[in-house]
Amino acid sequence: METLRTICCKLTLDAAALTALRATQVAFNAAASWCAMVAWTHGITNKNTLHDHVYYPIRAQFALGAQLACCARDKAVEAIKAAHQHGEDASCPAFGPTGSIRYDARSYSLRGPEQVSLNTLHGRVRGILVVGSFQRQALVDSTWEIGGAELICRRTTWYLHITQSRPAPAPVATFSTIGCDLGIVNLLTTDDGTVFKGVAVRRIREKRFKHRRRLQHRGTRNAKRRLKKNAHTEQRFQKDVNHCISKALVTKAVAEQKALRLEELTHIRQRTEATVRRSQRRQHSSWAFRQLRMFITYKALHAGIPVILVNPRDTSRRCFQCGYADKANRKNQATFHCQNPACAHTAAADVNAAQNIAFWAEVSQPIASPLRR
Ligand SMILES: [Zn+2]
Repeated sequence: METLRTICCKLTLDAAALTALRATQVAFNAAASWCAMVAWTHGITNKNTLHDHVYYPIRAQFALGAQLACCARDKAVEAIKAAHQHGEDASCPAFGPTGSIRYDARSYSLRGPEQVSLNTLHGRVRGILVVGSFQRQALVDSTWEIGGAELICRRTTWYLHITQSRPAPAPVATFSTIGCDLGIVNLLTTDDGTVFKGVAVRRIREKRFKHRRRLQHRGTRNAKRRLKKNAHTEQRFQKDVNHCISKALVTKAVAEQKALRLEELTHIRQRTEATVRRSQRRQHSSWAFRQLRMFITYKALHAGIPVILVNPRDTSRRCFQCGYADKANRKNQATFHCQNPACAHTAAADVNAAQNIAFWAEVSQPIASPLRR
């Protein structure tokens, strides 16, 4: 098993390199679209099979070199596979002239942490990677092996997303589990009652929401620009909070030698939408939860901590003590009060849910991971 990570760097290019890359981008994406069309028509999802159909035609029609031809083929096959996973209403993938260029280990190379050489239609061009201390360190860290890269042009700025891999850490021996409940008021609660609060996040979101509404009403160009900037700041803030919480949780799991248990994703949105008043719903955005889960999973796997997904059924309604499940058990957002007269257990609602997740909820699947076999 391998762990993967991606290092994103801005790229500085001179005029000649830019011209070569723009031309390559157009040809590469046209070739990838054509490969996808061939694969789609013939029902091919295998790189080697597609290779026999497309290799010589791509080189002749789109003037791509041998290596870029293979990369265009790979981009097409991956898009085809993703489209098939989408099911019946999927259509043949196609890539616009400003789409990304895929590079494999043979079609680009790094010269130290600051220079890159990229294959184009007209030979190799050099680029300067704009790296901060994090990227620089990551790129010279010899415990990570450098793999392929994706060259992306956003408006007029070019970015290189470099993939690195290394063997996955040996799993930590775990003896029990930590149940994790994700919520709105407390972003994360564990079964031992540890709370990772999202209060600050909520307050800031609230403030920003009001500000946003004022700007929307105004509707001027300047207001629109500020709206965009605020959305960006808010996302960065949320991301930061999610990083801190996931890091603290995984550190706890390593220290206690416990695996993590989370509910399956689909459920979180349903539960919040059912129980949260409409006015509060905007405070919570599902992407934030999705991101928190992603960070938890990712950091856990890097640390060798197993992540187990459980069936979310009744975790917020069932009494941890006696097992009695009833909607009425959940007095309000914060409090759980068991309606079984023989029990009458009272607890913080999210702690009760986390305990159910830790001990009673049925395991549904090991989590889809950023690791590859
Ligand atoms: Zn009870």
